[in-house]
Amino acid sequence: MSTYSGLVERQKAFFEKGMTMEIGFRKEAMSKLRSLIKGHERELMDALKLDLNKSEFEAYLTEIGVVLSELNFTEKHLSKWAKPRKVKSTVAMAGSKSYIYPEPYGVALIISPWNYPFQLAVAPLIGAIAAGNCAILKPSELTPATSRILAELVGKTFPEDYIAVVEGDSEASQGLLQSKVDTIFFTGSVPVGRAIMEAAAKNLTPVTLELGGKSPCIVHSDANLELAAKRIAWGKYINAGQTCVAPDYLYVEKSIKNQFIRLLGEAVSTIYGTAPHEGDTFTRIVSKRHFDRLGSFLGNGRILFGGRINREKLLIEHTAIDGVDWESPVMREEIFGPILPVLEYDSLSEVVTMVNNQPKPLALYLFSETKEIQEEILAKISFGGGCINDTVMHLASPYLPFGGVGESGIGAYHGKGSFDVFSHEKSIMKQTTKFDLPFRYQKTKDALKKIKL
Ligand code: NAD
Repeated sequence: MSTYSGLVERQKAFFEKGMTMEIGFRKEAMSKLRSLIKGHERELMDALKLDLNKSEFEAYLTEIGVVLSELNFTEKHLSKWAKPRKVKSTVAMAGSKSYIYPEPYGVALIISPWNYPFQLAVAPLIGAIAAGNCAILKPSELTPATSRILAELVGKTFPEDYIAVVEGDSEASQGLLQSKVDTIFFTGSVPVGRAIMEAAAKNLTPVTLELGGKSPCIVHSDANLELAAKRIAWGKYINAGQTCVAPDYLYVEKSIKNQFIRLLGEAVSTIYGTAPHEGDTFTRIVSKRHFDRLGSFLGNGRILFGGRINREKLLIEHTAIDGVDWESPVMREEIFGPILPVLEYDSLSEVVTMVNNQPKPLALYLFSETKEIQEEILAKISFGGGCINDTVMHLASPYLPFGGVGESGIGAYHGKGSFDVFSHEKSIMKQTTKFDLPFRYQKTKDALKKIKL
């Protein structure tokens, strides 16, 4: 038996003992998780600094704080979510009561990426614990310091048979995928998402796939341009653009393009300073390979602002480029870095056509003050989720399930969504034995007539 299958088997045995079914047990695990995080904030921030040069502010805002607020929200609502829910019965089922019982799947495998290496491993874990599962986390090998500290802290806090962290690269994931786990929660790229789904199909294991893609950001001429510039500058360049829902490219109405680019450049300098590629406070690109891929995009068009790079520190300045089209390499794949191509349009129908020609995006952002325009875009373009007059913030709400559609993903989490993706909803009808309606039995007189609608 390999190490991985042994671990899965031990977790299954632990699950079968039934402790994780108790709400008190789940709450205690969440409380331990909170103490683990709060007691080791410093080490977590140091790891994020080592892996990605994240500033303390960004590390707290986008990783530690997000996880703590998800934890608080889940703890507050867990008792209610975990209860069987009474639903209606139809007249044909007279005498019965109907319920939905949420039940845990069993052993959950959570495979996570490097861009928010703490948040994207631990936020799904909260859902897995809340729903009553055992869990195996496989964080990314590209952020080894964060994976290490996670493994260390989780190892000290929970028995491995309940929650385990497996460090390693794709081979480790593939090793784990050989065993029959009960649900898989994957966050990462589209091609790997396909491979995960293929592996899951062998055992008919349910999957949640949180993937990526090119998320458009549309700026219409009636938008509050100054505010749009500030919010786009923040959402695009935070974490050096290495955010799955970052605006990938801008679509700006032609008549305001020059004015908007000026405002965007100003907003970037105000938020991030004038020479971030030299400093020590800006998130770096995760690896030389990713850095070189991004660097090659800089020659795709004309630099509007930014463009300076520092290969030694793996820093790329906040950059916008124009003069690109859908054939340019920068427009043919998800950018995942601080480079923003700018396209222009005359009419919104062009935008709708062009965006709908691409795989369905994970996010879409529209800046416009006109309700009809907002509704038109929402009605005509399918995408995972997004914001009107803001960027990225939809993912911070526990009331909004977060996920993709089409190639950008399957399933959604955050808030109750996280509890739901790690639960099977067992539908139960409890029927009375006090009487028995005869019409379902074929030999009853006029049986067919009685059931016809
Ligand atoms: P990735 O797909 O390369 O890797 C993700 C995880 O899968 C890592 O743990 C990695 O070790 C593992 N892995 C890699 N190859 C594998 C294979 N063949 N079989 C099994 N496991 C394998 O993704 P990444 O580069 O770490 O992250 C970037 C991508 O993730 C981007 O496309 C981004 O949009 C997406 N992403 C999506 C979300 C979301 O919530 N939707 C969040 C963050 C990142």
